[in-house]
Amino acid sequence: MTSNDYIIVGAGLQGGLIALALRCRQPDARVTLIDREPRPGGNHTWSFHANDVPPDAEPFVRPLVSAQWPNYRVSFPGYARTVPAQYAAISSARFAKVLENSGCEQLWNAEVLTVEANRVRLTNGREMTAKCVLDARGPSQVANPTAAGFQKFVGLEIETEYPWPYAMPTVMDATVPQDDGFRFMYVLPFTPHLVLIEETHFADSANLDKSLLRHRIADYANAHRLGRWTVVREEAGVLPMPWSGGGVNLPDSGPLPVGYAGGWFHPATGYSFPLAVRVALAISNSTPTGARQALQQLARRVIPRQRFARFLNRLLFTLVIPDQRWQVFRRLYRVVPDETMNRFYACHFGPVDATRMVVGWPPPISLSRLIYRPEPTPCPSPSP
Ligand SMILES: Cc1cc2nc3c(=O)[nH]c(=O)nc-3n(C[C@H](O)[C@H](O)[C@H](O)COP(=O)(O)OP(=O)(O)OC[C@H]3O[C@@H](n4cnc5c(N)ncnc54)[C@H](O)[C@@H]3O)c2cc1C
Repeated sequence: MTSNDYIIVGAGLQGGLIALALRCRQPDARVTLIDREPRPGGNHTWSFHANDVPPDAEPFVRPLVSAQWPNYRVSFPGYARTVPAQYAAISSARFAKVLENSGCEQLWNAEVLTVEANRVRLTNGREMTAKCVLDARGPSQVANPTAAGFQKFVGLEIETEYPWPYAMPTVMDATVPQDDGFRFMYVLPFTPHLVLIEETHFADSANLDKSLLRHRIADYANAHRLGRWTVVREEAGVLPMPWSGGGVNLPDSGPLPVGYAGGWFHPATGYSFPLAVRVALAISNSTPTGARQALQQLARRVIPRQRFARFLNRLLFTLVIPDQRWQVFRRLYRVVPDETMNRFYACHFGPVDATRMVVGWPPPISLSRLIYRPEPTPCPSPSP
């Protein structure tokens, strides 16, 4: 039986970040990273604001970055602007390469059957022990929030004949016709001729009509006169935006759930990168036996912020008329200072930021929703 300081079950975003942070900050620690897939990292583009990365985390995050931009644009009916904040993206391919060269012990094609506080058992019967076992098995492990809206999207990475017209990302283009909640296009120009175009909805239902969204992405690309283009990769996701349940869940004993599996995500965006970085820092600044306490300290700071984000979700999904939700986001980008928005996205905001975000409500409210509140529908597990 192999004995380790750390075993990390799941080599997705969270598991990989923890492994890299440990290589940087505890280079002598014996770390084993396990995943059931043949390669780590899945099929994602993880994007984030530069502000999401504290200075201490830069040494292990920087090598992962596959694209970065000095600013980005947002566009709504009657209002558009360039936001002077750095934006970056990590591709699964780059993530896998960095992780595979990191020097930690790696087991791929290894399905884990049981995860205990100090022991992991694989389906092939192999057992391993560690002082600290981290469960980073991702969204499939999430306890279902009792009520939630959803950020759902399909993205096509395309190679184009003619260049995309903007050098900077378009984080929200909400000038498109609205349907199924707040609808916007999201565009990352990796090069002038290699572009990721995503159609995103902040919707009441988790149903994702991939074929419809693919067609509309094609229409959007054609409207930008890109000439002939071909799809080189596709990604899709349905991320919960809960207004009840779904926060950090840190038990007093047993393996440590981290990443999506532990509820470490931002309820108002469905994104987990900013918290995954902080979890990786907290663990790598501690010891195998002190990791639980380090995460408990972090959870005390995160949980109240998740609660506020769930409150915003409740307003957005239970009160605002679905096809008018875009007005909430136009107002945020118009009147709320960029620093507040940056801290909000990083889930690192304070009471003044929170006040700034809600002053100015109400947005267009549905009277029928106000008078008759439908029972919240339990949501299915988010798709990986
Ligand atoms: C397409 C997509 C794009 C996204 N983009 C962003 C973004 O831009 N920014 C952002 O912040 N968030 C984004 N998210 C949300 C979130 O950050 C991701 O879902 C993120 O990958 C979650 O990280 P994780 O490590 O918790 O889970 P995952 O990255 O899903 O990793 C879980 C890993 O565990 C492995 N695993 C599961 N069960 C077992 C088992 N029994 N045995 C062995 N291995 C197992 C899986 O194979 C997987 O590799 C995106 C989500 C999706 C689906």
